[in-house]
Amino acid sequence: MAEKLKQTSYTYGPVPSRRLGLSLGVDIVRPKICTLDCVYCQLGRTTVSSTTRGDFVEIETVLAEIKAKLEAGLKTDYITLGGSGEPTLNSRLGDLIDGIRRLTDTPVAILTNGTLFYRDDVRAECAKADVVAPSLDAGDAAVFQAVNRPNPDITIEKLVAGLEQFRKEFRGEIWLEVFLITGMNTDAEQIEKIKRLIQRIQPDKVHLNTAVRPVAEPDVRAVPREVLDRIARQIGGVCEVIGEAPAGLRDRHETRGEADVISVLKRRPCTMEDICAGLGMTRHEAAKHVGHLQGLGMLCSVQQGGITYFHIRSDIP
Ligand code: SF4
Repeated sequence: MAEKLKQTSYTYGPVPSRRLGLSLGVDIVRPKICTLDCVYCQLGRTTVSSTTRGDFVEIETVLAEIKAKLEAGLKTDYITLGGSGEPTLNSRLGDLIDGIRRLTDTPVAILTNGTLFYRDDVRAECAKADVVAPSLDAGDAAVFQAVNRPNPDITIEKLVAGLEQFRKEFRGEIWLEVFLITGMNTDAEQIEKIKRLIQRIQPDKVHLNTAVRPVAEPDVRAVPREVLDRIARQIGGVCEVIGEAPAGLRDRHETRGEADVISVLKRRPCTMEDICAGLGMTRHEAAKHVGHLQGLGMLCSVQQGGITYFHIRSDIP
């Protein structure tokens, strides 16, 4: 690499989120440690499959970074714990949420796959958040295996029973995401099974998602909008299809620099519009940074559904 570029370590964005508005992402697990290895993962294949919780990051450093962003005038709708693996694997999750509460009254969200909610400690720590957004992409063990490729310690029954118990204990909102893939989990019988599991979990919202961005396995196919709408009607109740983040989110925070572009593109593939909206940049500024990073050989671009997504090359630390 011709130049060294400064970048933040644990936080990224705020980025536009289809569910959370503007979201400051906090990355609390090393890439890519997870209990699952989902075929649709935007971070690529799981390199460490584990159900063992650990002290992966220096929580005090994470909190100092959030504090510095708040003092610099950060405007965000949520502080969102997630990132490059499964965040509930971090054994200091509860301490982190307590620390954020001491810094700000900005709501805290957790993006989780929900697989560790069978554990009392994980449920107790997640109950400190305002919004918990777990996933459920299958209605039975065979489809769970095919779509989510779980660690051997994890079963779909464990996942659903854990979320069911969490619902009884948690006073905040549960937003369940169902990721749909053509030919894997979209037939009427499978949707009926998923619907029955959703009825056990009783989430406040159900969000249907599909592969709008480049994902781990190239043969994962997005579900057309009309099929998503039909499935949303079949599930009924609080179920809705989530769309792209509204363009109106831009201009809500200050302009950022190339380090922030790198920080965002390390975590997920983004379009030029995502970069503009998430980082408050004009298209000209975003294009300048993207062009510069491409010139340095740091960036890859991928076509998905006729749209160009950019991400940092996986071999760049
Ligand atoms: S999508 Fe989430 S749960 Fe699935 S492998 Fe990626 S990080 Fe893990």
